Amino acid sequence: MVDIPLKCHCGQVRGIAHNVTPQNGIRAMCYCDDCQAFATYFKQDVTVLDEHGGTDIFQMTPSQIKFTEGGDQLRCVRLKKKGLYRWYTNCCNTPVGNTIGAGFAFIGVIHSIMDDEGERDQNLGPIRAFVQGDYAKEGLPAERYNKGFPFFTTLRVFWKLIIWRLQGKHKPSPFFDKDGKAVSKPVVMDRA
Ligand SMILES: [Zn+2]
Ligand SMILES: [Zn+2]
Repeated sequence: MVDIPLKCHCGQVRGIAHNVTPQNGIRAMCYCDDCQAFATYFKQDVTVLDEHGGTDIFQMTPSQIKFTEGGDQLRCVRLKKKGLYRWYTNCCNTPVGNTIGAGFAFIGVIHSIMDDEGERDQNLGPIRAFVQGDYAKEGLPAERYNKGFPFFTTLRVFWKLIIWRLQGKHKPSPFFDKDGKAVSKPVVMDRA
């Protein structure tokens, strides 16, 4: 079990992802157009996306995340009205992660906020699922291609969502206050 330091590009926002093991989260690579649009909009495609447009994400619980500095720099966009809450830092546009809502014990932490270069495979295990391959850039290796979400990945995520919620791990959350309101008002972005 490790505590992974969190740090934005400029260093104003710092924190810790507590008690992480490869088993208590799900590491996935998402190629979807929304994840690509999120990174690209903030001009972070170079820092976030891999050569095929994938975002390396570790799905875990909000209660494991603590910001020790600069938590007030968190900002949020949604790509459509009911879309995921996509968090980034106001200071330097570092993508932080994606949440579903206050009631969900879930955050997909984006690798850009984790200060664990070189230790990622050891800390989080290998990437378990490559999802939404239809949106990947050309040249995606066949073994990484999945149409949408592979069945067992979906099952595993749903299972985790239920367990984590039953364990009450949706709070405390650095992203939603105790009344379930986002700590920064989400801005709905026009995808275009
Ligand atoms: Zn920053
Ligand atoms: Zn995605």
